[in-house]
Amino acid sequence: MAAQNLLKLGHRVSLYEAKPSLARKFQLAGRGGLNLTHSEPIGHFTEKYFENSSFFASLFDRFSPQDLRNFCHQLGQDTFVGSSGRVFPKKFKATELLRAWISNLVTMGLDIHTRHKWVGFDDNNNFLISDLHGEIKTVIPDAAILALGGASWPRMGSDGSWVDILRKLDIEIAPLKPANCGFETTWPDSMPTSCFGHPLKNISVSLKDKSVKGEIMLSSYGLEGGAIYALSKMIREEIEATNNAKIHIDLKPSHSLGKIEQLITSRKPGTSLSRFLKHNVHISSPALELLKAYSSKEQFNSPTPLAKLIKGLEISLVKPRPIERAISTAGGIKFSSCDESLMLKARPGLFVAGEMLDWEAPTGGYLLQGCFSMAVHVASGVEQYLTSQ
Ligand SMILES: Cc1cc2nc3c(=O)[nH]c(=O)nc-3n(C[C@H](O)[C@H](O)[C@H](O)COP(=O)(O)OP(=O)(O)OC[C@H]3O[C@@H](n4cnc5c(N)ncnc54)[C@H](O)[C@@H]3O)c2cc1C
Repeated sequence: MAAQNLLKLGHRVSLYEAKPSLARKFQLAGRGGLNLTHSEPIGHFTEKYFENSSFFASLFDRFSPQDLRNFCHQLGQDTFVGSSGRVFPKKFKATELLRAWISNLVTMGLDIHTRHKWVGFDDNNNFLISDLHGEIKTVIPDAAILALGGASWPRMGSDGSWVDILRKLDIEIAPLKPANCGFETTWPDSMPTSCFGHPLKNISVSLKDKSVKGEIMLSSYGLEGGAIYALSKMIREEIEATNNAKIHIDLKPSHSLGKIEQLITSRKPGTSLSRFLKHNVHISSPALELLKAYSSKEQFNSPTPLAKLIKGLEISLVKPRPIERAISTAGGIKFSSCDESLMLKARPGLFVAGEMLDWEAPTGGYLLQGCFSMAVHVASGVEQYLTSQ
């Protein structure tokens, strides 16, 4: 996106990509339908960027979610708004959009070098690029943008190897951490393994005063899924502060505690409680197993304690899943190391963009939109820098 904007301004642009093809993570995101952005009002949209929301608000003034949709449309790829308000390409994948985009960039004159990895600087601060044969080339650009990603899914190219290079330049980098990730727990011994791989749908998960409705997936190591990802920043920070995060799962958010208690009490004596919970309270099989594993026999058979458990089953999460399995990365280059245009204060002419900066946002299209808007902003910073030279 940065190259697109610089080419439009008439600059000569070369792109160096370590992998044999461009945008592998973008392609991977396409497997889930490619949630490009979100259609909610911009005020709500910017709130999703936590402590960086005012900075991102200024980026969206320049390149908004609607601008991204228009851009896709210009590439011949229409978008649509899903029932949750999320925006996807009509084709529901990345391949065609990416193909159209790369072809457009090539037509505009982009000079692409795949299998070319940036490995650092020489003594004169020139860029060192290792080519596909392992030979090192020296590149001397008038200005450069690093958009090397975070450290999740390193197979897709973003392996975080830039951290050591940039730290040597005294650039402040917050430790890279998993974001939008699953979390580990120690399941009770009585938890049946047959539950793993099954979702709990239409539930809500809360941590302290924040509650998220959605779906979670039970797994042998712990919990994954949208409702967990949405709380992942809070969960991670709580674990860092206190060694564990006690989340509460409401297995029946549509019913009050009193209503559930009343339903359970209405069961005819002699009928199976498990069957009653399934058919009359609509508790799914995995949720039922979870309730059994987290209760004593007495608790399970007493209406009030059982209703309380259904409305707030506590699970202690102890560790995030490894960053390699996370959807995105928290941490990275601190904004304080950059000027307003995201040029590194320590290296005039060198700009940074995307997930390698210290920000995070939930899933829902906020990550890609954040990266694209940042790229547009950085391209304009490069233009200003070159003009000032
Ligand atoms: C499974 C999955 C699904 C996702 N789905 C969505 C979604 O639906 N919606 C959404 O908004 N976000 C989604 N994301 C997140 C989104 O893909 C990322 O936030 C986004 O791709 C980050 O863009 P980036 O340009 O900062 O980094 P990246 O996309 O990671 O790109 C960095 C590029 O730099 C290259 N590179 C790294 N180091 C070097 C080097 N030294 N020299 C040369 N090249 C180098 C890498 O090979 C890579 O191609 C998903 C992520 C994953 C893992």
